[in-house]
Amino acid sequence: MTISPESTRVGFIGLGIMGQSMAGHLQKAGYELHVYNRTRSKADALLQGGAQWHDTPGEVAASSDVVITMVGYPADVEDVYLGSDGIIDNAAAGSYLIDMTTSEPSLAVRIAEAAAAKGLHSLDAPVSGGDVGAKNAKLSIMVGGSEADFAVVRPLLDIMGENIRLQGGPGAGQHTKMCNQIVVAGNMLAVAEGLTYARKSGLDPEEVLKSIGTGAAQSFLLNGLGPKMIAGDFAPGFFVHHFIKDMTIALKEAEAMGAELPGLRTAKGLYEKVAGEGASEDGTQALIKAYD
Ligand code: NAP
Repeated sequence: MTISPESTRVGFIGLGIMGQSMAGHLQKAGYELHVYNRTRSKADALLQGGAQWHDTPGEVAASSDVVITMVGYPADVEDVYLGSDGIIDNAAAGSYLIDMTTSEPSLAVRIAEAAAAKGLHSLDAPVSGGDVGAKNAKLSIMVGGSEADFAVVRPLLDIMGENIRLQGGPGAGQHTKMCNQIVVAGNMLAVAEGLTYARKSGLDPEEVLKSIGTGAAQSFLLNGLGPKMIAGDFAPGFFVHHFIKDMTIALKEAEAMGAELPGLRTAKGLYEKVAGEGASEDGTQALIKAYD
């Protein structure tokens, strides 16, 4: 299959914070879009732009040459791919399936096997770069699947991201995303603790950020979420409950491979504490609440 706006119908399932922006880029690039989301109103902007609504993931799959999913949890991924009215049972042989949700590596392998048995091509392709990366089409996309399938879908991934890499076979994209989340967890902890120290020591945290934000401590998270921690702006770019989901997957995988990750375990415990106190739907910068 050669992918082009003239010949390829794209299905997009999961139109939340990330999916809406990502699907929007494909629409702007001229692709015919077929969409489904649990809450229909989140598709409004895309429907106004000409996308076609379907009532189930299976109907999207039956109307598309490539199906992209960006739902929330592994259970949602399992539902849209393997459930009744799901993608696997309804996609035409030869279709391409790309799951961009952060999900379990083992589920990506199971979907790849179920897809192959039906003559479908499947890739796991989770992303990093946050809501801002999705809006600006600057995502890092970490892919698991075959080289041949990766080459076919690459033009679509290029529209949504900037740094796009095949990391290995099925599940390798999800494993790479777990590496990403382990680094993010440690960094979030460090940002919250550095800013707590600044406040307790009587310094002006905003001034401190201006100094440390350009030195060896600088990071995407320090400079992007540090100011929000200081301002008490907890509007979600990336939900606390999704991050806990990711850390849970990473710890389970690490345990299975005999890797002890005490920093990740500490970060997960603190996130669970703030989630338990009502911050589950906040953005991940709400970690600072654990230090109040
Ligand atoms: P979100 O806003 O909750 O979006 C998920 C969307 O999927 C929601 O609109 C949800 O419907 C829909 N959905 C869930 N289950 C469904 C199902 N079974 N059928 C149809 N639609 C379903 O979350 P998000 O921030 O876009 O994140 C999406 C995924 O990307 C998550 O796995 C997250 O961990 C990952 N991620 C997020 C970021 C970020 O910065 N936000 C960055 C990288 C990766 P409703 O509208 O009804 O809730």
